Amino acid sequence: MKITRIEPMLIGLPYDHGGPKSADLTGAIRNTMDALYVKVETDEGVTGWGEAFGFGGCALTHAAYERLVTPIALGKDAVDIEGTMADLHKRVVNLGRNGAAIFALSGIDVALWDIRGKITGKPLHKLLNANSRASVPAYASLLRLNEPQYVSKVSEQALKRGYKDIKLHERTVDCVKAARDVLGPAPKLMVDTNCQWTPEMALEMAKAFEPFDLAWLEEPINPPDDYKALAALRRAQPIPIAAGENLGNFFDVRNIIDARAVDVVQPDAVKMGGVTELWKAIRYAREAGVRVDPHSPLYGPGWIATVHVVAAMAQDALAEFYYADLEQSPLGDMIYPQNGFMHVPDGPGLGIDVDEKIVAKYRRM
Ligand SMILES: [Mg+2]
Repeated sequence: MKITRIEPMLIGLPYDHGGPKSADLTGAIRNTMDALYVKVETDEGVTGWGEAFGFGGCALTHAAYERLVTPIALGKDAVDIEGTMADLHKRVVNLGRNGAAIFALSGIDVALWDIRGKITGKPLHKLLNANSRASVPAYASLLRLNEPQYVSKVSEQALKRGYKDIKLHERTVDCVKAARDVLGPAPKLMVDTNCQWTPEMALEMAKAFEPFDLAWLEEPINPPDDYKALAALRRAQPIPIAAGENLGNFFDVRNIIDARAVDVVQPDAVKMGGVTELWKAIRYAREAGVRVDPHSPLYGPGWIATVHVVAAMAQDALAEFYYADLEQSPLGDMIYPQNGFMHVPDGPGLGIDVDEKIVAKYRRM
């Protein structure tokens, strides 16, 4: 079975996250959740869906398909995922082991796993582990709200909707305190700063966050690949350190683990090579005794693929739901956790039906 067509589709979905909207990577106000869906067709009529990262960089990844990845992937074997992906990774190696080309390959890998499930009649989670879970806990990953009043309001709303655990993308003591005050002592509270501080500032802030009993402090240091500084921070204070969404491949995950830089590693399926590489990373982390909670600020095929992977993992792994309500979703309401749990689809492959009319309505590229 050969790959005959690859169609990347850039869509922007209006959303509400409970507060004023922040700037995206380009500095423009982010009014839509942008996503890059990828449809992979074969000569035997089986079609797979994938997704590639993402955010303000969707157009760049779209160009990576058009200019490089699609031409080299057409005609490849859609069934031999491992062989095809190894070959494609080798072809783009000169462009770097992280970034747009790897994101584009990730989308193809996810689509090929969807195809494998459709051929075998099995859901992705069963392809990975016969003893997978039927539903997985999802934590509410709140978008940056910047002000304590919004942090309180949205934390409270998430609790009411049944979420057990909450992550903030805040950077101040006032905002973290606002969330803990609303949550009370029981729920897990995590803080993600998206690589904000020098190692010295990170230590200072970690000490300031100590009273709020954080389950982890995520990406405190810039740049994210200063594993040595992360390891030192981890040794210098008691809050567990999480990182990994900016890792581009399995070997990056291996390196951050071997550097003893993290308590929790967070590889992202649609950034670091798809289900194939993510699953490899999860197995390596398990051997090393490092917890994995995959990164997934997504609502499309990549989100559902991540839910399948989490279902196939150890008992306590969490899925990250990027907490917002979309105006419309091409996958329907299956993307939303209910009472803090994601139902794991049981149809073949990803078990999704993409409503292409909704895709067309919001499509930009
Ligand atoms: Mg993060």
